[in-house]
Amino acid sequence: MTESPQFLHSVLDSISAHIAVIDQRGLIVFTNQSWRDFARQNDCTDCGHWLGVDYLSVCQQAMAAGDDYAAEAVRGIAEVIERVRESFQLEYPCHSPDRKRWFIMRASSFMLDGQPYFVLAHEDITERKIAEQRVLDLARVDGLTGVYNRRYFDEFLEKEWRRCCRQGQPISLALLDIDHFKLLNDHYGHQYGDDCLRQVGEVLNRFGRRAGDLCARYGGEEFALVFGSTPLEGALAVVRQIVAAIEALRAANEVSPTRPVMTVSVGLAALYPRRGLKPAALIEAADRLLYRAKETGRDRVVCEHE
Ligand code: GH3
Ligand code: MG
Ligand code: MG
Repeated sequence: MTESPQFLHSVLDSISAHIAVIDQRGLIVFTNQSWRDFARQNDCTDCGHWLGVDYLSVCQQAMAAGDDYAAEAVRGIAEVIERVRESFQLEYPCHSPDRKRWFIMRASSFMLDGQPYFVLAHEDITERKIAEQRVLDLARVDGLTGVYNRRYFDEFLEKEWRRCCRQGQPISLALLDIDHFKLLNDHYGHQYGDDCLRQVGEVLNRFGRRAGDLCARYGGEEFALVFGSTPLEGALAVVRQIVAAIEALRAANEVSPTRPVMTVSVGLAALYPRRGLKPAALIEAADRLLYRAKETGRDRVVCEHE
């Protein structure tokens, strides 16, 4: 590669994709300017010394650290090297601490001076991914409150349930229902009712930020919060913060027999998913606890783990 025409290097340097060329052993023989700049900006140690680095073993290290995308990349690149396939491409997330990013990696081969080489081109596809995410969100998000809708909740719970079952981890579910909302609506009008729902949605969207968490509108003035890989105590801590934040809204409900502000009741259940048990069991448990919260005076959290 080092003897290859200078113009080839110039062309590759002018491309915005991050490009590395590896040989049959997986050793890097060329990187373009964009690759080196990216490595420098992303705190890569030993940035100047890419040549001779074993790219596949770098991926294998990431794979050992639990990066499933790296595992897929290693498999795909190895297949291109072994000529099992012509080319390979993989979309993968590569988030920086302050920005979500996605890339696509394309691997393909070429011959130079009778030797096979392999081009690995990584291209930033963040804008497209964000646009795709927006379209998906339109179908998943409740129009009034801005939290996820019931349909997506069902899908998410099912997936999270299976993941927790596989990994032997607990899952918690809270059902949160606004107290005396019918009276609030009747007294202040539907517009005000809608406004309260919107504000509760904004509060919920500030919480449940982990990958296994989800806030959704379960129906009417009832919301569901999923906390995957989280035992009861952890979920309860978050629920208490949410209830405090809703309380801090100080939305008037002067006709409520409970208190003259908008209050909520919550049923929170936790269990270890296992074979023979369905997500419906968790929903039923949370619903039973919500009923108990209503019965025993509203404006409270009632929780239990199996
Ligand atoms: P409880 O404390 O027992 O939960 O009493 P509640 O009045 O909150 O419960 P109920 O189920 O009797 O009434 C729920 C009300 O929520 C009735 C319905 O009109 C109102 N509601 C449901 N969806 C919406 C909505 O999208 N906007 C508004 N403004 N109100 C809604
Ligand atoms: Mg209610
Ligand atoms: Mg209700």
